Amino acid sequence: MKFSELDLKPEILKAVTNMGYEDLTPIQEKTLSHVLNNRDLLARAETGSGKTAACGIPLVQMIDPSINAIQALILVPTRELALQYVGEIDKISRFTDVAPFAMFGGFSVDIQKAKLRDGVHILVATPGRLIDFLYRIRSIDLSGVRTLVVDEADEMLKMGFIEDIDFIMSCLIHEHQTLFFAATMPEEIDRLIKTYLKEPVRVELNKEQVSPQSLAHHFQYTGRGDRLNILITYLKKEEISQGIIFCNSRHHAEKLIRELEGRFKSIGYIHGGLDQPRRTSIFERFRRNKISLMVATDVAGRGLDFSHVSHVINYDYPSGLERYTNRTGRTGRMGRAGTAMTFVTDRELKGLQSLFNTNRIDPVWHGTIPSLQAFSKQNRRRDDKKYAKKRARPAPQSRRLSNNGNDPAKGERWNRQGDLGETRAPIS
Ligand code: AMP
Repeated sequence: MKFSELDLKPEILKAVTNMGYEDLTPIQEKTLSHVLNNRDLLARAETGSGKTAACGIPLVQMIDPSINAIQALILVPTRELALQYVGEIDKISRFTDVAPFAMFGGFSVDIQKAKLRDGVHILVATPGRLIDFLYRIRSIDLSGVRTLVVDEADEMLKMGFIEDIDFIMSCLIHEHQTLFFAATMPEEIDRLIKTYLKEPVRVELNKEQVSPQSLAHHFQYTGRGDRLNILITYLKKEEISQGIIFCNSRHHAEKLIRELEGRFKSIGYIHGGLDQPRRTSIFERFRRNKISLMVATDVAGRGLDFSHVSHVINYDYPSGLERYTNRTGRTGRMGRAGTAMTFVTDRELKGLQSLFNTNRIDPVWHGTIPSLQAFSKQNRRRDDKKYAKKRARPAPQSRRLSNNGNDPAKGERWNRQGDLGETRAPIS
């Protein structure tokens, strides 16, 4: 379906066309008309699906700019997401008189107060600062809100905001529409939905629609000591228009950036320990393509849209399948080609097969291909040994199995030079 086939206001259609949007994405096709029809909505959708515009376009269409009141309230978990959301709505509303604004912590309350006084139609807010305004500062009026959007609800739950969301939802006692977005639906989220949503339309994207097929999953089996050299070779050899290199901790990210800074010109780093202005500045520079490589912890892994990213590199293996999906979802967006490269050491081989199975990954291996089967057997034997020691009783049968020669630790050595020749092969 094309945007031109919808009954959008001409100034919105013009803006959307300027943004380069012609066809609706699957989430937009499934939700847009329901939102315009004032229905409550419960959508399981990830960033990268076009869900911001799926809300933003109908919201801008429904706002009456002649009424000076907050008519749409959008709750998001982080400041970065608030800025991203308001940026998209800014573009959609460019040729209209609709005024969007983002409000979050770490920014002057006085300026935010003045902006609210000036008139805001669509408010994007993080829960903490909004509650400050409702409870302590007491200078915000939500009685004109006709649509409430809760975005990344499951992420808010993880960050401990769920009570805040509950509180904010309970404050909107007048008739309004609620749009609820979450990638997963844990029990607490389900409770909120049952309490506050009225016969919501349920929309769920299937896996193919959520994770684009244009993402290639590459893997490099390496020893911990050699990862840096292999990474440097990879970064020099690959054609990377923009890449994010993920580490599991601030400490690792800082260590890695020190190693890379002298070798690559256009590089920056981001982690949760940096103050807000620095985080915002690096995100903005990266988004505007002013830097091409960004070393990051998982603060950059969730929710944010960096459309130019051609490569995501898991220098440290992500802990958990969800993290893998979140990180690699920063590339291969909206049908654009993307490459995810993951460094795997002996430690991680155990869980790799389940990552491949769950995410339906057809891996492209660089260098030596490890035998996952042998590894899971070896790990099982190791676990069995531990277990047997603890319980001080005879080991189970599997412990006594002899090495079958496929053990990568003893068998074929991985290539220390970091042979980057690609091999797509079935994993044994
Ligand atoms: P989101 O899931 O909202 O973060 O959007 C992911 C990316 O898709 C962003 O870069 C949007 O600008 C882009 N996008 C959203 N809707 C469309 C569309 N209909 N056509 C092309 N790109 C889109």
